[in-house]
Amino acid sequence: MRLLIQKAQTSHILTRDEIVQILSCQEPQLLFEAADRVRKEFVGDGVYLRGLIEFSSYCKNDCMYCGLRRSNTHAQRYRLSARQIIETAQEAVKLGYKTIVLQSGEDLFFDTDKMCQIIREIKKLDVALTLSIGEKTREEYAAYKEAGADRYLLRIETTDKTLYEKLDPAMSFENRMRCLHDLKELGYEVGSGSLVGLPGQTVESLADDLLFFKKLPVDMAGIGPFIPHPHTPLGNEKTDGHFELSLKMMALMRLLLPDINIPATTAMETLHPQGRLLALQCGANVIMPNVTYTEYRKQYELYPGKVCTGDNAAHCRGCMQAKIESIGRFVSPSKGFHGDFLRGN
Ligand code: SAM
Ligand code: SF4
Repeated sequence: MRLLIQKAQTSHILTRDEIVQILSCQEPQLLFEAADRVRKEFVGDGVYLRGLIEFSSYCKNDCMYCGLRRSNTHAQRYRLSARQIIETAQEAVKLGYKTIVLQSGEDLFFDTDKMCQIIREIKKLDVALTLSIGEKTREEYAAYKEAGADRYLLRIETTDKTLYEKLDPAMSFENRMRCLHDLKELGYEVGSGSLVGLPGQTVESLADDLLFFKKLPVDMAGIGPFIPHPHTPLGNEKTDGHFELSLKMMALMRLLLPDINIPATTAMETLHPQGRLLALQCGANVIMPNVTYTEYRKQYELYPGKVCTGDNAAHCRGCMQAKIESIGRFVSPSKGFHGDFLRGN
């Protein structure tokens, strides 16, 4: 194990079998320490904070794992107005955020014109702007880019095509791939990622996920443990081992793609009270605190037990900074583009 980790740390290359071996190991401490060293060397001690606005909980899709799926009749739906989205972004900027992330279900109400108007207004605030609004046509992605969007988050969720299509029979794996390639070609910083612990998912397919992120290559990658939502078809699944496996995936990602941005995801904190701090110590360098108005947070329920749903943006900002500083790191003042640290920004 020591040799394999050393190889990954210096060459940033592993075979599928080697990744499977590391993911299966019972003593991941060496892996975590190596990921922390590589993180320090390639992205530094600064943590990039991205202000996350969850602006609509309507979704036309029916992903079996997600609480926002259209068949979940228990879900409370809300949609912020363009004015509310822009005001939330303005408040986030006042709190010091240098990146705004707009995330939602796939809500057809926000057509291309509406999205582009919102993007143009937010870009006037001198921030980097990330979108996470699902699968769109190439033309739509091009229009958002033209309006000023810098980055796009679209997890592949799993590279196991059969599993992917089983999790939403109406969605196509090829289209997901097409979206990621279009985004890359259009010049976005592309973020992808996996859900870890899906029923039927194997460590071999998780190894394929990592190799896929390296091949694209991604600029960011978020690893989220799968947390079952009771009002979905996967509601009775368990979460045993998902947290540890997600940490190993994050750490391996850091070794294979040393300079990318890796978020310590909110779902990690739902499964472990120190989940995001542990992730920051196993390779992660980004946190995406919620800046959505408190009254809507509970309704954006992808999974139960989401943390910070009772807090407001100012509280989350202060709380995250204190946590980050408690482990000897600091909030970076940079917009945090891929490679900024190595370029001295
Ligand atoms: N609708 C867009 C999409 O699917 O790309 C963006 C919003 S979606 C809610 C963001 C992410 O939430 C998904 O990529 C998925 O990985 C994650 N997610 C959904 N349900 C989840 C669950 N039960 N546990 C953990 N993460 C979940
Ligand atoms: Fe909709 Fe995204 Fe949830 Fe799928 S993961 S149901 S696309 S919000």
